[in-house]
Amino acid sequence: MSNPLLEITNVPQFDRIKPEHFVEAISTLVAETKKISDEVAKIENPTWENFYRPQEHISDKLSRAFAPISHLNAVMNSDEIRTAYQQILPMLSDLDTFVGQHQGLYEGFKKLKESQKYQSYTQEQKKAIENALRDFTLSGIALNSEDQKRFGEISSRLSELSSKFNNNVLDATGAFELIIENIDELKGLPQSAIDAATLSAKTKGKEGYRFTLDYPSYLPAMLYCENETIRETLYKAFSTRASDCYEVGKEWDNTEIINEILELRLEKAQLLGMKNYAELSIAPKMAQSTEQVVNFLENLTAQSKAQGNKEIQELYDFALKHYGKEKLNPWDIAFYSEKQKEALYSINDEALRAYFPEPRVVAGLFELVNRLYGVTIEKDESVATWHKDVKFYKIFDKDGKHKASFYMDLYAREHKRGGAWMAGCVTKRVDEQGNDIIPVAFLTCNFNGPVGDNPALFTHSEVTTLFHEFGHGMHHMMTEVKVAALSGIAGVPWDAVELPSQFMENWCWEADALEFISGHFETNEPLSKDMLDKMLKAKNYQAAMFVLRQLEFGLFDFRLHLAKPHKNIVMETLGQVKKDVAVVPSPDYIRTPHSFGHIFAGGYAAGYYSYLWAEVLSADAFSKFEEDGIFNRETGLSFLKNILSKGGSDEPSTLFKNFRGREASLNALLRHKGIA
Ligand code: ZN
Repeated sequence: MSNPLLEITNVPQFDRIKPEHFVEAISTLVAETKKISDEVAKIENPTWENFYRPQEHISDKLSRAFAPISHLNAVMNSDEIRTAYQQILPMLSDLDTFVGQHQGLYEGFKKLKESQKYQSYTQEQKKAIENALRDFTLSGIALNSEDQKRFGEISSRLSELSSKFNNNVLDATGAFELIIENIDELKGLPQSAIDAATLSAKTKGKEGYRFTLDYPSYLPAMLYCENETIRETLYKAFSTRASDCYEVGKEWDNTEIINEILELRLEKAQLLGMKNYAELSIAPKMAQSTEQVVNFLENLTAQSKAQGNKEIQELYDFALKHYGKEKLNPWDIAFYSEKQKEALYSINDEALRAYFPEPRVVAGLFELVNRLYGVTIEKDESVATWHKDVKFYKIFDKDGKHKASFYMDLYAREHKRGGAWMAGCVTKRVDEQGNDIIPVAFLTCNFNGPVGDNPALFTHSEVTTLFHEFGHGMHHMMTEVKVAALSGIAGVPWDAVELPSQFMENWCWEADALEFISGHFETNEPLSKDMLDKMLKAKNYQAAMFVLRQLEFGLFDFRLHLAKPHKNIVMETLGQVKKDVAVVPSPDYIRTPHSFGHIFAGGYAAGYYSYLWAEVLSADAFSKFEEDGIFNRETGLSFLKNILSKGGSDEPSTLFKNFRGREASLNALLRHKGIA
């Protein structure tokens, strides 16, 4: 039988791909990549055509095979998939090292840059070559052979540790359940959450109501369940997952893994002659120095702290006055905040769900990108997916040309990693024959699915999440870049990559957009003007506390990677950051770093600050629409032309300036958050 992962098709053949194909496909392609690397490295006079092209081609084949594998591992996790996935990770990490340490390739790139032809290349081509040279340096190519060997060992061990970290979080999360037998204990909980808890118990063959640490189960309980013990139990489990304090079990403790990761990251940075890992992390980013990042975070903390303190004091006063609560515990904050929000704005996030049925929201999203960029989106049911709930769509430009496709997988289910994300499936480029490769994206969320005959009903924050991920998707899909290494989100510095996504969230807060994004699932009536006004007022409720929470994560991450690792560095750094930033005290048992996958198992190490950094850019970009009209097609097309379509083909600060006509300013962000 042929291996579907080795066939080049427009979209992966999800009806044929099985775990037994993974290892064969990846090992074949890894071997082929190595062979091609060796061959082109021997070329006397490297050119784009004879040197760069063959590498791009095989790299594309490999990423097209790996994308569906990595995706299935995330959304359809099983023992077979996980085992096969674990087998291929070391192969890929080995290949990274092989290519990164390939002296001949490095020399080839240097020759290419020094060649006469280089001057005639496009800016994209030049940038791709320069980036490759930079990455070679960062992958230790200039090291002596002994250090190079150590560098390789570190990289492969780090990728193993990340994977273990992730599995521990996944397993620890899955090991927890809270079964409540008596419905009286669930007072305050909305019907949708009770239904979901009933269904969850039933699928486990149990009586009663089952709560887990997955967001759709955890969050409503924290917001609405009047029973304080239930909230405390969930809070404690959630914030100690995969740590030494997790009462469900210690076998998933990530403490040692984190310490080893920090040691190895520092060693890696030092091998490259850098002082710490933070310095290495920002080398390819938009930020110019570690000081600049620290100043940015501390400056924003200073600007937000006073208002954060005011917001929490107002909550304490409210809880005392209306509920006689003398002291609020951490598991009370969300609960009383929800009450205060209701009292202040009579808004109930759960009640708003009725106005955000999936069909309306999705159609509204598509309407928005049509207004802004002139694109249309159509469902294609002929394409095979990995689950019956997944939908497949095609994007056409204003002339009816098929530009891109994407899968949308919106509902939470077992064996699917939590959270929401966009991932590339096929990357846009122009192939050897000059044909456009049509990009494909995976859009993944974890919302509650439909219950009974009703459509899935989203909270407003879920709607915002969907728009956010779709923004990443547009960046990946609407690119006009011809070189894969710079196409879509590829080659975009991490601290600028959240610009197009956070940018999209803005429309979820605009009355004129909500008119067609929202509509009651029974009557199709849009959100009333009155409700809308309240929502908009509620938008900045605890805005400073939210920014401070992000700053807490960002500063923790950055300081941790500036520091010298030792046994207690994680808890020490966390303690100090909480002291500097947090306005809500937290118990000593808190172990949030132990499930902080962004920085220990994702790409955000010493890079979590990127969210706020990019939010400055996205708020400022949106303010151009506030000036010109939020559906202004001309401004939309300018954003498409100057930012979305450009991918990583130029410096983000340049792209931003081309769109905005000036450098980014902090003002729009502070104004949007009501902090100014
Ligand atoms: Zn994002």
